[in-house]
Amino acid sequence: MGRMARHLYIPELHDAPTVEAVCPLCGRALGSDNIDRHHLVPKSLKGREQFPIHKICHRKIHATFSERELLRAYHTWDALKDHADIAAFIDWVAGKPPGFYTRTFTSNKKKAAR
Ligand SMILES: [Zn+2]
Ligand SMILES: [Zn+2]
Repeated sequence: MGRMARHLYIPELHDAPTVEAVCPLCGRALGSDNIDRHHLVPKSLKGREQFPIHKICHRKIHATFSERELLRAYHTWDALKDHADIAAFIDWVAGKPPGFYTRTFTSNKKKAAR
């Protein structure tokens, strides 16, 4: 111990993903601003999978569905996208820039932030 014998250890610097990340909900490029992660399957089940997703899309999911609904029926992207509200949202958000974010549309569920 104590000797720097690192010359053989050459980590891949910046193993940059070549695939452009897109939002699993709306399909637009993720960009670099206002990105959240969504647990597709809630932790209470076994959910470890976290998906990078637009903050606005994430908000929409949680504004539309309760945790219970997410757990029972809306734990796949297809199911989510099938829902009329989400479909309308995807339509609406399609023309927005990747980092676009507003919270106005969540105001129908007014709760003092958790
Ligand atoms: Zn999105
Ligand atoms: Zn989430």
